[in-house]
Formats: sequence, C-alpha cells, structure tokens
Amino acid sequence: MRCPHCGNSDDKVIDSRTLAAGDAIRRRRECISCGFRFTSYERIEDKQFMVIKKDGRREPFDREKIERGVQRALEKRPVSQMGIESLINEIEDEAAILGKEDHEISAKVIGDLVLEKLGALDRVAYIRFASVYRHFDNLDEFVREIHKMENSPMEKNNDET
Ligand SMILES: [Zn+2]
Repeated sequence: MRCPHCGNSDDKVIDSRTLAAGDAIRRRRECISCGFRFTSYERIEDKQFMVIKKDGRREPFDREKIERGVQRALEKRPVSQMGIESLINEIEDEAAILGKEDHEISAKVIGDLVLEKLGALDRVAYIRFASVYRHFDNLDEFVREIHKMENSPMEKNNDET
C-alpha cells in the first residue's frame, strides 16, 4: 500500500487483528522507506463502518481521528506509546462491536467510550478530553464532573504528583 507520508509503495505489516468477531481485519503497516506507520482495513464490501455525527451526517469511521484526540489529551502525561495504542485498540474494538448491527455508530457513543477509557487511565487526560468533548456550559457542571470522578473507583489508578 502507498505510504500516506512519502508515497513509497513498499510496506510491511507489523500487526494484524480481527475486529467485531470477523467483520473486518485491521492491519498496522510500516513504510519500508520512511518508517511512517499507518492503518488499513479489510472488510466485506459495502459494509463500511460509518459514524453518525452530531448534525446527522455520516462519515467513515476514522481511527486516526480518535488517535489525535487521545494523543492531545495525553500530551506530556506519563502514558507510554504502547499504552495509547492499546487504549485506541480497545476503543476501536468496542465501537466495532456496538455498531456491528447497523454498521454505524454515533459520534457521541465513541466520545463516551474515549472518556471511559481515558478515565481509567489518566485523570488529567480525562479532564482535558471531557472539557473539549463535552463543552462544559458552566463551571458548576465542570466541578460536578470532577467530583463524580473523585468518587469513582478510578481514583486508585491515579498517579498524581
Ligand atoms: Zn513512507
């Protein structure tokens, strides 16, 4: 496959996984020429997995988009690249399972999944993501959200310094 970064067409597959109990196969590829990593999907034709956006429009599911949001939230946080990768794998897997029937999933469900996973991993990242994703209307709402988190079991995974 052609590298989206440098255009070279030689790559090697570094990881291959089945999604949603066999509906799709996801391959992680690495460009031989520049080392850029990208993802390809193999699925039965006309079963493209779609995301329903807030305004009702649909767009193809985009792992990179989730990755960007998660990376931003985890910027300078003590979470390894492997940790991020497996978090995104989990989100992708669960999204694929939740949307299996209709081959689509709402952006809100994905956002909630991301929040749930981030919450279990890193509290600061959770707050960052939540403040962008939920567009808190006011401070009360934001404080309530933080209190909710403080009373939840995720507290024990915390490594605040
Ligand atoms: Zn390349």
